[in-house]
Amino acid sequence: MQKINLVEVKSDDDFEIDMMYAKTQNMMQTDVYSAVGMGNRCFVQPDLWECLQNLRPILQTKGLKLKICDAYRPPLAFDLMKKIIPMEGFFAATAERSQHCHASAIDVTLLDKNGVELDFPCAVDAYEEKYALQVLQGKVDEFYKHLEKAKYSWNAPEDAEKIKNREMLRQMMENVGLAALEHEWWHFNLPNKEKYPLVNSVFAADGSFQFFI
Ligand SMILES: [Zn+2]
Repeated sequence: MQKINLVEVKSDDDFEIDMMYAKTQNMMQTDVYSAVGMGNRCFVQPDLWECLQNLRPILQTKGLKLKICDAYRPPLAFDLMKKIIPMEGFFAATAERSQHCHASAIDVTLLDKNGVELDFPCAVDAYEEKYALQVLQGKVDEFYKHLEKAKYSWNAPEDAEKIKNREMLRQMMENVGLAALEHEWWHFNLPNKEKYPLVNSVFAADGSFQFFI
């Protein structure tokens, strides 16, 4: 095992940290990130930190803020999530296959200068409480139908404004070298994923932390 450094991204004028798995308003209805000691903290690979720094002037020109809803996901949290929602295909098959567990991915949305979220075809993670409650009972059909709105192929004419925002976000993120995922408009990751091994972590009660590969 080898110690490595991730960079912590904190809320400031350009970024708002609001990790969706560090509260109960998520598909698990469970604060899994506090359960593993990380809480509402955002860690990324130094290369991803660089991309975010390059995004600052773009955000400022547009008068927007990037809300980060997920970044590094501890493998322990991933295992917990799979236990709560065990259905095959819901999450990545293993922590190894989730780029969040490699600290090389972020889930984001955009806020205007008043802190109001721009409209997108669906919420980040396609989260809605009603779907979460269904999924927790093992009923995924309605949610999977709703998930169509998460894809770049979603093009309903009545969502024209939302789709414009989705395309603007994609353009901004690709301009700083991040890659989009065709089926999740909110997800962006570093290219060359083989460069970033799975990251394990220890979070202590005093707020200190260590990362290992
Ligand atoms: Zn993601």
